[in-house]
Amino acid sequence: MAETYDVIVIGAGIMGCSTAYQLARRGLKVAVLEKETPGAGSSGKSSAIIRQHYSNEVTARMALHSLRVFQNFKEEVGGESGFTQAGFFVLTPAKDIEGLKANVALQQSVGIKTELVPREEIKKLWPHLEVGDLVAAAYEPESGYADPSLTVNSYAEAARRHGARIYQDTPVTGVRMAGGKVVGVDTPKGAFDAGAVVNCAGPWGARVAAMVGVEVPINPCRVQVAFFRRPSGYKEEHPVVADFVYGVYWRSETGALTLVGLIDPEEANDVVDPDAYQEQLDRDFVLEVGERLVRRFPAMERSESTGGYAALYAITPDWHPVIDEAILGSGFYLCAGFSGHGFKLGPAVGLMTADMVTGQETPGMERRMFRLSRYAENDPVRGRYEYSIVG
Ligand SMILES: Cc1cc2nc3c(=O)[nH]c(=O)nc-3n(C[C@H](O)[C@H](O)[C@H](O)COP(=O)(O)OP(=O)(O)OC[C@H]3O[C@@H](n4cnc5c(N)ncnc54)[C@H](O)[C@@H]3O)c2cc1C
Repeated sequence: MAETYDVIVIGAGIMGCSTAYQLARRGLKVAVLEKETPGAGSSGKSSAIIRQHYSNEVTARMALHSLRVFQNFKEEVGGESGFTQAGFFVLTPAKDIEGLKANVALQQSVGIKTELVPREEIKKLWPHLEVGDLVAAAYEPESGYADPSLTVNSYAEAARRHGARIYQDTPVTGVRMAGGKVVGVDTPKGAFDAGAVVNCAGPWGARVAAMVGVEVPINPCRVQVAFFRRPSGYKEEHPVVADFVYGVYWRSETGALTLVGLIDPEEANDVVDPDAYQEQLDRDFVLEVGERLVRRFPAMERSESTGGYAALYAITPDWHPVIDEAILGSGFYLCAGFSGHGFKLGPAVGLMTADMVTGQETPGMERRMFRLSRYAENDPVRGRYEYSIVG
């Protein structure tokens, strides 16, 4: 006999677990089916930077809502997220200064604590940045980063406390439909029945959507992260930096390490098989990001490279997710394609996805901009910079 649920969530990353938590809180009987373990996809390997710099009102509100959850995680969700308020700088080339100003104004208008800091003032906030090429920076004192595995597991635990079941080592191999409506899913452990199924499969999102014949433009793309041990005199925690001039982001990691990744639209071209890709770091990558880091944080000239890893982004054409019912009235929902910036939005996305399944909408967090049809309508989400990959 198949087990019967109100909702089946496919994938136990941040999106699946946050969605399951929000649905279970509403009294629905929820099962999360995960092919490996919670956080085994992008979420557990995320840099988990929690910032609020976005170009659109809805995404800015989602980031702010989520930040408040990370700041009060124990009360809001329960357990730990490892959120560290380190402060966050956005550095843009001089040509993008108008975009930066407009973004800061938009973010302030929705209540985000952010300010435009002129070049001369930046070093007062953190003295070790090289600022000669900048006009100004945006600075968010409340932003920082979280511990990604801890956060996902806390969400999974919170969902369980509200009655959800999380099945690990349970890959969904098929989605069953009858009369245009979803009726359940198949797994090697047996069938599960439900009138609603949410695809939170991240980089596998297009494969899972294909199980109901829906094409979603989500590509699994290989990205890398490298670690550098800071030299003596620089061991203390430093702010998070998103440097659009050199196309690189960095934050502190435990053990006096600095974690570095690229901000590069070209990463969308490295499409891989999500079940068989090179998980080790490329040597060239270390040299490349190390050089970019040193240009902005010169003391890192004396740092030591300590490895890193490769992981997956689930990239869509506009680097924004699809949060939508795949086929109207089918009960098969999409919540995937968060590209390189979904982690910080996880708390808001759980709320929005639960709203979608239960036919509600939270004011200020409208899903329309994330509809699947925007690609066919040539109405993608747009940002304010030359490349809008950070939203
Ligand atoms: C290196 C790196 C750095 C990042 N840095 C940041 C950052 O600083 N800030 C930020 O906000 N975002 C960041 N991101 C992006 C962010 O981590 C992702 O957008 C987010 O984690 C996506 O979560 P998800 O739940 O959609 O996907 P995932 O975490 O990938 O979860 C999908 C899950 O579905 C499971 N699954 C797939 N197919 C099936 C199936 N058929 N049956 C059952 N289960 C299945 C997978 O095993 C997986 O656990 C980063 C990502 C990476 C890779």
